[in-house]
Amino acid sequence: MNYNEALKVINPMAALKSLKIEGKEEGVYIYFPCPECNEDAVIKAYGEKKNLWLCTRCKVCGHIITLAMKMEALKFEEAKQFLLKKAISSINEIDEELNINYELEWCEFMQYENLDREICEKLGIGKPKGKTNMPGHLAFTVLNENRKKVGYVGIKIANGKPYIPKSFHPEFYLYNLCYIDPDDEVVLTPDMLDCVRLLSQRTQAISNFWLPSLSIKQLELLQPITYLSVKGFGENTSEIAVKLARFHGSYYRFI
Ligand SMILES: [Zn+2]
Repeated sequence: MNYNEALKVINPMAALKSLKIEGKEEGVYIYFPCPECNEDAVIKAYGEKKNLWLCTRCKVCGHIITLAMKMEALKFEEAKQFLLKKAISSINEIDEELNINYELEWCEFMQYENLDREICEKLGIGKPKGKTNMPGHLAFTVLNENRKKVGYVGIKIANGKPYIPKSFHPEFYLYNLCYIDPDDEVVLTPDMLDCVRLLSQRTQAISNFWLPSLSIKQLELLQPITYLSVKGFGENTSEIAVKLARFHGSYYRFI
């Protein structure tokens, strides 16, 4: 695994823990004491620039591997392997049930997008009523593998732009995984609307919330699925193929 791939798959919270650094998660960032000045340094928890860190006080920046090199007195390759081992084995799941409840209603956009009303009701998809953090959005209720509600993601009705709240970590979950039968074919798509349309056609479908890639946790979640069909990743398809070849033991194909 090269350095870029490693930065994508290392879980920063688990990595800090393995370096005996206490991190505090706040949205997409994790704050931790800078190894130089002990003031707050910050590391990006996911998305672009994931695992890059910065201390604004001493103007030091780097990535999680150089941090591990420093803390553990390791060479680059050793530090990378150290983190890959720790990040894969100790990914910490967020298992708290969300205590926000949106009242979701059917809207014209859903009809326009050919979504099935019954499926949407079952899955908790709709336009949130009243004052919410997602005005003008279609909201999707996200459950974890144990069918506990862990968040809402959305799509802006006016322009179809995905919306993922800062408090929600999409890399920890796969949408609709808790309702699938792993022994039957499952379609994976990054497009949430496409996922719901497939479900409307009685096709088993899951989604990784519009992310361009799959996290280690998501690859772990895919393990029990015997027949996986992957679609809609566009230019990222070859990267997905490499990851599946490495991590997915069962049969998979691209459709
Ligand atoms: Zn500093």
